Amino acid sequence: MKPIQMVDLLGQYEKIKPEVDAALLNVIGTTAFINGPEVKSFEKELAAYLGVKHVIGCGNGTDALQVSMMALGLQPGDEVITASFTFVATVEVLALLGLVPVFADVLPGTFNLDPADVARKVTPKTKAIVPVHLFGQSADMDAMLAIAREYNLFVVEDACQSIGADHSGANGKRKSGTLGDIGVTSFFPSKNLGCYGDGGALFTNDDELAHKIRRVCNHGSDQRYYHEVIGVNSRLDSLQAAILRVKLPHLDGYAKARNQAAAAYDAAFAGIPGLSVPARSAHGNHVFHQYTLRVAGGKRDALKKHLEDRQIPAMVYYPVPCHLQNAYKGDRHSQGSLPVTEQLALEVLSLPMSTELNNEQIGHITGAVKAFFNH
Ligand SMILES: *Cc1c(COP(=O)(O)O)cnc(C)c1O
Repeated sequence: MKPIQMVDLLGQYEKIKPEVDAALLNVIGTTAFINGPEVKSFEKELAAYLGVKHVIGCGNGTDALQVSMMALGLQPGDEVITASFTFVATVEVLALLGLVPVFADVLPGTFNLDPADVARKVTPKTKAIVPVHLFGQSADMDAMLAIAREYNLFVVEDACQSIGADHSGANGKRKSGTLGDIGVTSFFPSKNLGCYGDGGALFTNDDELAHKIRRVCNHGSDQRYYHEVIGVNSRLDSLQAAILRVKLPHLDGYAKARNQAAAAYDAAFAGIPGLSVPARSAHGNHVFHQYTLRVAGGKRDALKKHLEDRQIPAMVYYPVPCHLQNAYKGDRHSQGSLPVTEQLALEVLSLPMSTELNNEQIGHITGAVKAFFNH
């Protein structure tokens, strides 16, 4: 059997190697490494795929989040409501800009922000909500947008894990990341649309915001050596854009492969007491950035070890919620303040999930999980 990895990047590359290699050699031949035509073409193609007016490439997903806050003009002391059950980048950029992260709890089924708790956390200082579409499915954007309208807040969607997923709701079927004021994504290699290094992008339908985003990404400048605002240097490399242009037409096929693996996992685990398979949201489809189980009764770490002993990697995303991290904990967010988030951190376990998982590997993984539960 082919060794099992959390993601199989090499296996995926081998299937598109001629196109990727040709695209890379082409960029090298033109030496248009920075803001070359590949970047412009990729931005246009991704915008068409997403059905959004503007896509602006940048250095990575973390930069995309930071640039969003800067382009929206948020000021130190402004409060931003987001999830604690997320990758730290979401929170880190707020803190770096002097903004105040205010954490809302998540729903135990979908792991996404609980609209009722978001509404409870709004204060006169709140300026924005950052829903994180965790593990590949969208948060309830109808609810988030309704809260934003009521209190006049911006919405920045963290779609780093959900690119390609649909959100179905009041606005019809729309791509994840295109419903708020700004959506951001990451092209980190293991993400659903990964490049071969760092990369990221911002999406918006607002022409003026698109202009501000481009300006912030480019040292706050519209015209070379004239700087209108404080900016950063954050660019998508032409080499990465060329790779992403090869991979974008495969994105829906990749999601299909992930869904097939998820369906096989679901079927194998049905009816095992104390084991919950990932809930499917009522607000759109799932693209399974991660396939994440909940293991009750304090058995999560034992299951992880049982799998690792059988050469099956499994990961805990995320073992410590942001509000309990040494860097971010404080009076405002003590232990016990986000009960669902804290419970999930004890129970979640993500199984290998990639576009290249084969039936033999899936059978080995499901067999090992079932053996652990004597099922
Ligand atoms: C990956 C990720 C980021 C950061 O993306 P980078 O490209 O690694 O900077 C931010 N938020 C979430 C939810 C992520 O999964």
